[in-house]
Amino acid sequence: MTSTPPALDERVEPLFGSSRGHAPRDPHDILRTVFGYSSFRGKQEDVINALVSGRDAVVLFPTGAGKSLCYQIPALCRNGLGIVISPLIALMKDQVGALQAAGVRAAALNSSLAPEERDDIHRKLRSNELDLLYVTPERLATEGFRRVLDNIRISLFAIDEAHCVSQWGHDFRPEYLSLSLLPDRYPGVPRVALTATADPHTQRDLQDRLRLQQAEVFATSFDRPNIRYEIVERSNQRQQLLDFLTRHKGESGIVYCLSRAKVEDIAEWLCSKGIKALPYHAGLPAETRAANQDAFLLEEGLCLVATVAFGMGIDKPDVRFVAHLDLPSSVEAYYQETGRAGRDGEPSEAFMAYGMADVVQRRRMIAEGDAPEEIKRAEHSKLNALLGICETAGCRRQALLAHFGETYPKPCGNCDTCLSPVETWNGTEAAQKLMSAIYRTGQRFGAGHVIDVLLGKSTEKTAKFGHESLSVFGIGADLAAKAWQSVTRQLVASGRLDVDHQNFGALILTEAARPVLRGEETVELRRDRTTKGLRKASGARLSSIAEELDEEDRYLFERLRRLRTQLAKDAGVPPYVVFPDATLAGIARFRPSTADDLLSVSGVGQSKLERYGEEVLSLVAEFEAGI
Ligand code: ADP
Ligand code: ZN
Repeated sequence: MTSTPPALDERVEPLFGSSRGHAPRDPHDILRTVFGYSSFRGKQEDVINALVSGRDAVVLFPTGAGKSLCYQIPALCRNGLGIVISPLIALMKDQVGALQAAGVRAAALNSSLAPEERDDIHRKLRSNELDLLYVTPERLATEGFRRVLDNIRISLFAIDEAHCVSQWGHDFRPEYLSLSLLPDRYPGVPRVALTATADPHTQRDLQDRLRLQQAEVFATSFDRPNIRYEIVERSNQRQQLLDFLTRHKGESGIVYCLSRAKVEDIAEWLCSKGIKALPYHAGLPAETRAANQDAFLLEEGLCLVATVAFGMGIDKPDVRFVAHLDLPSSVEAYYQETGRAGRDGEPSEAFMAYGMADVVQRRRMIAEGDAPEEIKRAEHSKLNALLGICETAGCRRQALLAHFGETYPKPCGNCDTCLSPVETWNGTEAAQKLMSAIYRTGQRFGAGHVIDVLLGKSTEKTAKFGHESLSVFGIGADLAAKAWQSVTRQLVASGRLDVDHQNFGALILTEAARPVLRGEETVELRRDRTTKGLRKASGARLSSIAEELDEEDRYLFERLRRLRTQLAKDAGVPPYVVFPDATLAGIARFRPSTADDLLSVSGVGQSKLERYGEEVLSLVAEFEAGI
């Protein structure tokens, strides 16, 4: 650690004597006094050093790794104004709110401002009263704004959510393309592009398009160790969700559903079960959407039931769970959506309940879409990759990271299959029986009827089509209907069976069924289990921050939380902007009695001390005095 200011590139002015006065200039100092943290995480310090000395950087860290500090601290160390390009106004507001709470001179320039607010920011720009300015790429592209910048010293450009420049990602924003012009107009100003997108294709693409091929690349594993993955076979989804939510009482989380109708349905039902839940989808009036999103950010312990329209731009760090009641569209989407849990690094859960109906529906949506054949093929293989992860008997994390080209050395110990290893069984004979039944009945029937035939169940249909006299009638009586559904789902998921959408979802055999029928290939299948099964088997419950405290500390923690709710309400900011849970837990454990004590708790910086110190210290003192 060094306390001397880092060397600067000769293109910028010396560190001292700037009009900005007495801001601290050493990255460690800033980390401590402004943000209240004692040490850098992972490669944060390397990125900061590169930028402070004027070099370009590409930062590929997963969500929650702490990318923001990587440009915020250099902007405070270097002379001039740091410009942060961000795709969404909501994102900017969150970041600027948190920075201002930490005492940083930050602002966001966007279309939602009133004229006087905009004028105020322009005035501050002219008089060097800002260290960080957040803008959209559209604004940066306007000539008027560029002229404003021409008269200002710029310390760096940070391009947040940089994957938006790539057509490969799902968030392509054409305006990002104009950012390739930055090095021409502002030569010598360091640029940093940041993203949590794990896909290597997108990563290469963004370096090319932003002309950052020469930049130093800082990458860490995309693993999110604090997220526990669990994927179950859907049986009674409402009950399964409720079982899952009982372990997250009083915590915030997101429940994703595919359709708007289901979103409303589930939200209403959760409320009827005494769980605070609100719906969010693109079909709701804009005011309702905004109000529900605000409630999610500002209140504690709210469950937001949403379509995928919700999430991008939500920076809430203490989302404790993400539950999918339908299959997401791809592994990438699954990883991005589940990645919204646990940005603060605390234990969090990603839960998915999926079933045969999802597979059938997805295949149909792809088949019936009007995309060209090669795109459809690509979509099918994306779906298959996701199904592979759903049906794996191995570690989910290993399978997920392998999809992104990463090798995770050993089973993770923090996913459902690790915590309670899945039983597998040799399903070759069952697969052959099912395939034969499909074949003998003419590949014209859905799973329900084929299973009736296997079980030897006489129905109107079996009689009408003469299926009771087939050799396959009743050959599957050794397994229950539920087991046959599981076999069917797994064979569809593995591509050995397909669903004929032109023919009302009839099951058909694919090329891949042949070797199984001929006895040349064995089929290993998972034994399905319910959510309860996992709980019982592993006894594994995530312990929350509060549960790790001893009884007395927990009592103080709860009182601190109530104080935080009040302080947040008074300031009109989300509770986590006041202090994150981990900081409250630190205070509860450490029981600071002086301002210096309080400063030594992780997450308490100078500005938070000034704002909230008195009230926190007097609450702790009251508690210690037994009041
Ligand atoms: P990302 O943008 O990579 O998703 P953020 O920048 O939002 O992550 O940071 C995630 C959380 O981690 C924030 O609450 C942030 O304050 C915290 N954080 C970042 N760096 C550190 C650090 N060095 N020590 C402690 N907490 C940190
Ligand atoms: Zn695992």
